[in-house]
Amino acid sequence: MVTNKKPLPDYSKRRDRLLRGLRSQGAKNLLITSPYNVSYLTGFTGEDSFLWITPKEVVLLSDARYEEQIQSEVKDVELLIRTPSTTIVDAAANALALRDQAEIWVEAASTSVAQWERLGSQLSNKTLASCSGAVERLREIKDAYELNAIQDSIRIAERAFKATTELLEPEMSEKQIADELEFAMRRLGAESAAFKIIVGVGERSALPHGRPSNKPLRDSSFVLIDWGAKKNGYLSDLTRVVLTDKPPAKLEKMYRAVLQAQMDAIAAIKPGVLMSHIDAVARKALEKAGLEKRFTHGLGHSFGLEIHESVRLGKGQERPLEAGMVVTVEPGVYVPGFGGVRIEDDILVTDSGNQVLTSLAKQWEEVLVA
Ligand code: ZN
Ligand code: ZN
Repeated sequence: MVTNKKPLPDYSKRRDRLLRGLRSQGAKNLLITSPYNVSYLTGFTGEDSFLWITPKEVVLLSDARYEEQIQSEVKDVELLIRTPSTTIVDAAANALALRDQAEIWVEAASTSVAQWERLGSQLSNKTLASCSGAVERLREIKDAYELNAIQDSIRIAERAFKATTELLEPEMSEKQIADELEFAMRRLGAESAAFKIIVGVGERSALPHGRPSNKPLRDSSFVLIDWGAKKNGYLSDLTRVVLTDKPPAKLEKMYRAVLQAQMDAIAAIKPGVLMSHIDAVARKALEKAGLEKRFTHGLGHSFGLEIHESVRLGKGQERPLEAGMVVTVEPGVYVPGFGGVRIEDDILVTDSGNQVLTSLAKQWEEVLVA
């Protein structure tokens, strides 16, 4: 029998892995305050909710607005609904005051100082301990469900990009292109764009995070587009430079150097290789073209539920890559007043090397759409 069922997320397995990781750090519990981590461990996609986890209990603290959603999304988790007049922090403090743990571990990165102080004053007979990165480390290794979701997100982003580039007209502005692209992704089933889409015409492509303006395509011969989709909570992240007219020779030189740096870096990706090494490989390729000083950001980042997760391909990142990580590889060179080139693809680290999950054309000869 042939089945092509999509893999399902196994939240209890994720929670077991978390508890094992916590135990190795000497932690016996955790109050999870990051909405992404709550979602990763329960399937709940709402906000304003905390998760309390110990080897004996898993409690989702939420409010009445989400009750129905939780019932349909979450299984095997105790639910504690706070009253509208109780803040999420006070509800957590009230619930934890009744527990016998003397030490309460709290996710530090997603808890504000004010929340931390309030929790501490409400739980004066307990000690608060800060925990960072425990769930984020689990999220570095994508399971079958997550890989499938990321691939769906990539497919939507790529199909929408192709549809949008077919519509390009000289009069279209950066903002119109970004709007068209986002709408195309939504039509194809995305919840939204993964982040604010970047569209930079001509010299505006030298701004790595430029927001779309009213500048029209006809002002230049090239445009940089950095976009991604959000589908079932999972993101994708790509960048392409599109040629809309005959571009200057200088752009071709930059483009070929960036593409070579990207392909060299991708070829170096496999388990056990240091993250900093992949970045260095790209820099070395750009050095040969005399452009390394124009590469002003890190080479890539992991993503999934969030667009920038904890893996960074950059200087000083002395950790090895592991199978199951999904990272972007996005070298870029930027010349103020002229323009920038960035090429970004999404790569899965596999047991034997890597798999490029994105498939949009990127050879110089292939990026002319006019
Ligand atoms: Zn991007
Ligand atoms: Zn990126």
